[in-house]
Amino acid sequence: MKRFFTMLPDITRSLFRRPVTENYPAVQSETPERLRGALKWDPSTCTGCGLCVMDCPAEALELTVLDRKAKRFVMVYHVDRCTFCGQCVMSCKQGSIVMNNQSWELAALDRNSFATIFGAPEDVKEALANKPEDGAAKSE
Ligand code: SF4
Ligand code: SF4
Repeated sequence: MKRFFTMLPDITRSLFRRPVTENYPAVQSETPERLRGALKWDPSTCTGCGLCVMDCPAEALELTVLDRKAKRFVMVYHVDRCTFCGQCVMSCKQGSIVMNNQSWELAALDRNSFATIFGAPEDVKEALANKPEDGAAKSE
């Protein structure tokens, strides 16, 4: 009982204070502009040089070049391997890769959901047809 009375001033103060925690996920705060979120890739500026793939220390990127002239590229991004180091962004001289500061809620229930495939649907189909089956992935 003595302990309760010792705590009483703190308890009373807490009753009239705003909570210090955030009401996430109901309320989401603004993400910092420089937050390193999941990658976004722009095939229209990509040259298919493969530097991003070579420089990635986590082997998180796979690039299939179907037709360099026609810019038919397919990029597979394994976000579960990515360390968000930003090396691929720095390596890409075309500015084709950016880290999306809005894309940071990356939890998933199964491992296949962590692979994102970028590319035109027909290119993705062709690239995957020549690849050993390793499960489903989401396309963008
Ligand atoms: S951010 Fe780093 S780990 Fe992630 S794909 Fe780019 S180079 Fe690889
Ligand atoms: S480094 Fe840039 S231009 Fe080269 S393959 Fe990667 S995304 Fe394309």
